[in-house]
Amino acid sequence: MRPVVIVNVAMSADGKLSTRERRQVKISGKDDFSRVDRLKAGCDAVMVGIGTVLADDPSLTIKSPDLKKERLDSGRPEHPVRVVIDSRARTPPGASILHKGDGQRVIAVSARADPGRVEALRTTATVIVAGEDEVDLCRVMDELGKMGIRRLVAEGGGTLIAGLVRAGLVDELYTYVGSIVIGGKDAPTPADGPGWTKETEFARLALAEVTRIDDGVLLHWTIKTA
Ligand code: NAP
Repeated sequence: MRPVVIVNVAMSADGKLSTRERRQVKISGKDDFSRVDRLKAGCDAVMVGIGTVLADDPSLTIKSPDLKKERLDSGRPEHPVRVVIDSRARTPPGASILHKGDGQRVIAVSARADPGRVEALRTTATVIVAGEDEVDLCRVMDELGKMGIRRLVAEGGGTLIAGLVRAGLVDELYTYVGSIVIGGKDAPTPADGPGWTKETEFARLALAEVTRIDDGVLLHWTIKTA
C-alpha cells in the first residue's frame, strides 16, 4: 500500500521558493516553523529531492523536544525516516540528512547511478533502485509502503513536487504564502520542470482551509481525483 503523500511548501508572495541562486530564504516565522515540525512529527517519513539536499543541506529532524518525546512514548522512532530522491547518487557522504539525529535514511536512485557512489551510500542509508533514468516515484512509494510507511510529507523542492504531482501521487498540499517578494524568473517555484500545457493535464485542487499564520497565510488543499 502506497503512503498518503502530503506536500508542504513555503513560497514568497510572488510564488518563489528561494532566490535564483537557490539560496535558502526565511519565508515564514516561528509559528509556521512549529506547524511544520508538528506535521513532520505526525508522519512516518519526510522526503526531499537531491536539489534541496545540495542547496540547503537540511537534516529534516524533528526539533521540538515534546514532539520527539511523544513519538518515542508512542513506540515510534524519534525522527521520521528521511528519504532523498537522487537518480545519480549525488548525496554527499557528509550530508546532514545522513548524520544528524537517529533513525533510518532511504536514498532512492535510478539504474544510472554510479555503483561506487551507491555502495558508499549503503553504509549510512537503505538504497532503493527504481527507474532507468530518473527515479520512478511510483515504485519508490510502493517500496516505502512495504517498509511500513503510511504517511509521508514531501518538503520540496519544486522539481520533486512537480514529479510527484505528475505521477498522481499527491493527496494533500500545504502552501504557506509569506510576506516577502523574492522575484526572478529563474527562482524556483512550487512546481518546476517543464510544467503542463493542456488544461486537462492540470492537477485540480479543492481548498480545505485558509489560516493566517505569522505574517502570511497557509492554504491547505486536497487533490481532486478525476
Ligand atoms: P529538488 O526538487 O529538491 O530536487 C530535484 C531533483 O530530484 C531533480 O533535479 C532530479 O535530480 C531528482 N529527481 C530524480 N527523479 C526525479 C523525479 N522523478 N521527479 C523529480 N525529481 C527527480 O530540487 P530543486 O527543484 O532544484 O529545488 C531546490 C530549491 O528549492 C532550493 O533552492 C531550495 O532552497 C528550495 N526549497 C524550498 C522549499 C520551501 O518550502 N521554500 C522547500 C524545499 C526546497 P537527479 O536527476 O540528479 O536525480
